[in-house]
Amino acid sequence: MSPPLDREEIQLLTEEIEVVIAAHLAWFKQINRALVCGHAVDPAELAEDAHLRSPFGQWFHGREARVLDDSDDFRELGAIQQAMHDAARVALREVVEQRRPAPEHYDRCIDLALRLNTALRRIQLDIIGELLTTDSLTGCASRRGMLNRLREEQERAIRIHRPCSLCLMDFDRFKRVNDELGHPAGDAVLRQGLRFIAGVLRKYDTVYRYGGEEFLICLPGSPVKDAAQVVERIRAGLERLPIRLPNGETLFVTASFGLAEMHPRRPAEEAIANADIALIRAKEAGRNRLEIWETELLAND
Ligand code: GH3
Ligand code: MG
Ligand code: MG
Repeated sequence: MSPPLDREEIQLLTEEIEVVIAAHLAWFKQINRALVCGHAVDPAELAEDAHLRSPFGQWFHGREARVLDDSDDFRELGAIQQAMHDAARVALREVVEQRRPAPEHYDRCIDLALRLNTALRRIQLDIIGELLTTDSLTGCASRRGMLNRLREEQERAIRIHRPCSLCLMDFDRFKRVNDELGHPAGDAVLRQGLRFIAGVLRKYDTVYRYGGEEFLICLPGSPVKDAAQVVERIRAGLERLPIRLPNGETLFVTASFGLAEMHPRRPAEEAIANADIALIRAKEAGRNRLEIWETELLAND
C-alpha cells in the first residue's frame, strides 16, 4: 500500500504549489507583455533550458516535489511546462526579430500556460481532497468514498478477469486495552498496528477504517485463497508486533479476520456483510484467527 500523505505533508505541498502558481502567473504576465507590447525579451527565456531554470522547473525537478512522483498528473505537469517554454521561445524569437508573433504561436504559448495553471490547481485540490479521505489517527483511507472505490475495483475485476477479496479485521478485546491502559494506549495500538499492516500489503491493496477498531482491507486481483495468505501474514505478524505504549511499556495484541470474495456484479455491501459473518465466526471460534466466507454458491451464478 502506498503510504498516504500526512497532514503536515499535505499542508506543506499545497503551500508550495500556491507559491509555484504565483511564480507561474508572474512569468505568464511578463511573457505576455513581451509578446503583446514587444517589451524587451529576457535572453534567459530563449535558452533551451529555460524550463529548468524557472521557479516551476526548480520545484518540479527539485527534491521537495518528489513525494508526488508516482502520480500521472504530476508527470504530465512537466510535459506541459516544457512544451509551454518551447512555444514561448518560438513566439519570443519573432519579437526579438522585430516581428509580431504569429497568432498560432501566441495561442499555443498562452493555451499551454493556462493549461499548466489548471493542472497545478487540480493537483492541489486532489492533495487537499486526501485530507477528507484519510483517517487522521491511522493514516489509512477513511470510509468516505469507500463504496465508490470498491465499485471501481469490481469493474477492474471484470476487466482483468481476477476477483477482488475483502477482509474485515477487528482488534481483539480492544475495550480492555482502553479500560486497563487508557485511551492513548488504544490509539497507539491502532496507529502502530495499521502502520505494520500497510507495510505487509501490496501496492494496490487498500485499508479503510470501517469503524472504531474495525478495518476493511481490499485485496484486488486476489481470489480468496491468495487473499487468505496475505491476511494470514498480517494476523501472524500482528500477534508478534511489539506495540510501544506512551508509558514506555510494550504490549502485544491480536485481531480477528473475516474474508470474502467480492462478486463483481453484486453490491459490494453484500461482500462486506459476508466478510462480517466470517469475522463473527472468527470471534466465536476463539479470536486471533481468520475465517473465510465460502463462495461456492456464488461461483455458479
Ligand atoms: P472483541 O474482541 O469482541 O472485538 O472485543 P472488543 O473489546 O474489541 O470490542 P468492543 O466493540 O466491545 O470494543 C471496541 C472498543 O474500541 C470500544 C471503543 O471505545 C474502542 N475504540 C474505538 N475507536 C477507538 C479509537 O479511535 N481509539 C481508542 N483508543 N479506542 C477506540
Ligand atoms: Mg474488537
Ligand atoms: Mg469492533
